Amino acid sequence: MGQPERTGSIIDEPSVFHLIEKMVRKTDAVQVREILARARELDGLNLSEVASLIHVSDPELIAELFSTAKFIKEAIYGPRIVLFAPLYISNLCKNDCLYCGFRSGNKSVKRRALTGGEISEEVKILVEQGHKRILLVAGESYPDIGFSYILDSIAAVYSTRSGNGEIRRVNVNLAPLTLEDFRRLKASGIGTYQLFQETYHRDTYALMHPSGPKRDYDWRVSAFDRAMQARIDDVGMGFLLGLYDWRFEVLALLQHVRHLEAKFGVGPHTISVPRLEPAVGSEISIDPRYPVNDSDFLKLVAILRMAVPYTGIIMSTRENSEVRRATLALGVSQISAGSRTNPGGYSEGIQNQAAQFLLGDHRELDEVVRDLTDMGYIPSFCTACYRLGRTGRDFMEVAKPGDIKFRCDPNALSTFLEYLLDYASPETRAAGERLISEHLEQMGKGRATATKMLDRVRTGGRDVYL
Ligand code: SAM
Ligand code: SF4
Repeated sequence: MGQPERTGSIIDEPSVFHLIEKMVRKTDAVQVREILARARELDGLNLSEVASLIHVSDPELIAELFSTAKFIKEAIYGPRIVLFAPLYISNLCKNDCLYCGFRSGNKSVKRRALTGGEISEEVKILVEQGHKRILLVAGESYPDIGFSYILDSIAAVYSTRSGNGEIRRVNVNLAPLTLEDFRRLKASGIGTYQLFQETYHRDTYALMHPSGPKRDYDWRVSAFDRAMQARIDDVGMGFLLGLYDWRFEVLALLQHVRHLEAKFGVGPHTISVPRLEPAVGSEISIDPRYPVNDSDFLKLVAILRMAVPYTGIIMSTRENSEVRRATLALGVSQISAGSRTNPGGYSEGIQNQAAQFLLGDHRELDEVVRDLTDMGYIPSFCTACYRLGRTGRDFMEVAKPGDIKFRCDPNALSTFLEYLLDYASPETRAAGERLISEHLEQMGKGRATATKMLDRVRTGGRDVYL
């Protein structure tokens, strides 16, 4: 069994606090502009530079910070936004996280672990909506067969088909595993292994996790080390905003990133930035101790975009449309759509009391696609990199601006067209077709390839990618 690594070398709390304090006194406009100029070189920022940006409050400098983040977003990700749906398979859980509806202390929730057949039913609904990627989520307690339950569930997802469609990439959000179980998880064909530290602040972490295996901060913060040892090289980090000071969380997360880069030569594939949502049976989720307001939220997304330009940023669609519009421009590159957070929620058609948290946004995929299209973004269902083995460091290599545009743009367009032809409403299809033509006209390198790929999709080809 993999031993938890002591974490002095991963998160150094005193140095985070020291950086935050030191930079309050040091940062002036000239320095901020120098940092922003450096960020435009697309090489990321160091922790001192990030700490300086965290303190920026002057409106003029904030505007410059945002325009720098936009520049980076457009240079690397262009107008593409990747879409996925979460699939909650079980709300069994032996932890008592104070912010979560699945916590063991919440006796009002009906517990349920979906069977393979039930998972297939859920997946069919998602496939028929047009989804190609899912994020499989479970509480930390498995039915009698133990962790094999998760592996069987992943197999059930991959083996489900409906019409022209299937799920082509299963990412997972699961409790930390032993090295041996990470190896089994890798063999199941997952895309990204996602895990949020919730808070990097030890005392707050202890307070939020009063019982269950999740109490062990070190076991959690060292999970990506074990995942990477097991050759899972696409990992997804995150924190839960509202538990502790966001400025601390951003810097500590970047320490975590630098740790992985130093040890394994590659950082996280994605970073998620969920804000605490109200959950049944959780007071803290309704009245967070450190609420993050919209302007700080935008600032932290922009700072992350500059600090780790090649790492995707994931946001859920439940943020309101104004915040969504702003964060998509500043750095978010993946969003969920049509989400249900209760096991069986897609088949039941409702989000019920068994949900992990309550969603403010019930829009289905078609509406989200339409909304993105109207904003000029290309909704992408691409899964090419993972299926061609372009993960971890290999992905970072192709993610350089020239290359990623050449591959990702045609892939995004072909998967978008596939969606429009097979699943979209007539209005969304018309809007999407217009956007594809406009985009093709502006495309330089890659236009001929994209046109050929689109022709293949129009003549019945599916799953066309580079
Ligand atoms: N049980 C595993 C764990 O905790 O790592 C994985 C699944 S858990 C349902 C996935 C994530 O949901 C947690 O890491 C947490 O950040 C998030 N979450 C829990 N309660 C939430 C709430 N009230 N609002 C938003 N996100 C929440
Ligand atoms: Fe269980 Fe995860 Fe919810 Fe905590 S966050 S109660 S571990 S499902």
